[in-house]
Amino acid sequence: MNHFELREGELACEGVPLSRIAAAVGTPVYVYSTATLERHFTIFRDAMRATGHGEPLIAYAVKANPNLSVLKTLGALGAGADTVSEGEVRRALAAGIAPERIVFSGAGKTDEELAFAIDAGVSEINIESEPEMERLAKIAAARNARPTVAFRVNPDVAAGGHAKIATGKSDNKFGVSMTEAERLYAIASNNANLRPVGVACHIGSQITDLAPLESAFGKMRALVERLRAEGLSVERLDLGGGLAAPYFNHPEPPQPADLAAVIARALKGLDVQLAFEPGRVIAANAGVLVSRVIHVHERPEGPRFLVLDAAMNDLIRPAMYEAFHDILPVKPNPEGGEPLTYDVVGPICETGDTFARERDLPPLKAGDLVAFLSAGAYGASMSSEYNSRPLVPEVLVRGDQFAVVRPRPTYEAMLAREPLAPWL
Ligand SMILES: *Cc1c(COP(=O)(O)O)cnc(C)c1O
Repeated sequence: MNHFELREGELACEGVPLSRIAAAVGTPVYVYSTATLERHFTIFRDAMRATGHGEPLIAYAVKANPNLSVLKTLGALGAGADTVSEGEVRRALAAGIAPERIVFSGAGKTDEELAFAIDAGVSEINIESEPEMERLAKIAAARNARPTVAFRVNPDVAAGGHAKIATGKSDNKFGVSMTEAERLYAIASNNANLRPVGVACHIGSQITDLAPLESAFGKMRALVERLRAEGLSVERLDLGGGLAAPYFNHPEPPQPADLAAVIARALKGLDVQLAFEPGRVIAANAGVLVSRVIHVHERPEGPRFLVLDAAMNDLIRPAMYEAFHDILPVKPNPEGGEPLTYDVVGPICETGDTFARERDLPPLKAGDLVAFLSAGAYGASMSSEYNSRPLVPEVLVRGDQFAVVRPRPTYEAMLAREPLAPWL
């Protein structure tokens, strides 16, 4: 469930009509619902509490939606943060998330990033390769530190909604293999500058089938047991993120409670603290992208183009992953009217700037507002200024209030970021 519903004939976010936000902030604009973020986080946390493994660490995957106000909203409920760069660690800290609740993942952390994470005291640096372990140990030794680490393991399981977001097969770049994990864990346990506390996996995103997750969790359990049999201490098992959000072409993916049931089964009797890294399932349906129709372009033959003021630089998921977003008129015409078939496109000079092909929508005209649903995750966070379109703004709603939590830069600010070379 989310809090984007028709109120008095028009689409609203909680108590605020989207048209009011569009009038105040302009379009395109992302709009997030506090109540939905809170609801999704609470449901996920409560489900994982019920797996019988004590209080889990729910480290929200910052990259899904890194806006500081979103992080602060979730942090206030007890969320930790799963981060993949120094910038994300800094965001989490700036949002008031304690370092003991921050996990630092990533296939290519630099020396500077590792040093920063050590100094910040993050709770789990996920080591993803042997050279990374060696670099981390050296950097920690130079600082006389002993960071807590986990090993991200690649369980060699295929999962995820698209090849570009599958991460758990042995030919993906992420994590060490099962056998490497055993060898490296033992080495790290004997290193005075590393404190291994557990193992982690994250096998993909937009996962709608729990079977690969169950298989991965079974392999992770066996790994924990093998490590312990060797006398190594394993306190924590980080099961990653990846649970699908209900998009409109996948309206009923497994729920957090279904995932929890799989975990309870796979880990029955295993005494271990659990951590999770959910992103999409928390944020996707907590946000929409509101855009205005520039015009409708009909050729005598061929498609009818609905040309919007939003483009692939604002929402890249359709261009990058063939992702589906439901599109709704913000003020549906009460008279109805037979749906028309549109190709929904942005103004950017790329054919890839297409949000949907042959989509049936109510008749729309220049000036109408539309909303892309389920745009709260991997939407604004992947936005850019391609075609010199100022970065798309973000708004957070809470009840009947709203706040601009990332303003649209002015053209002057956009140009002022680029000092000219002194010889020009
Ligand atoms: C992206 C990512 C996540 C979050 O994935 P979702 O599909 O958004 O839940 C979790 N952990 C790691 C390491 C990631 O890279």
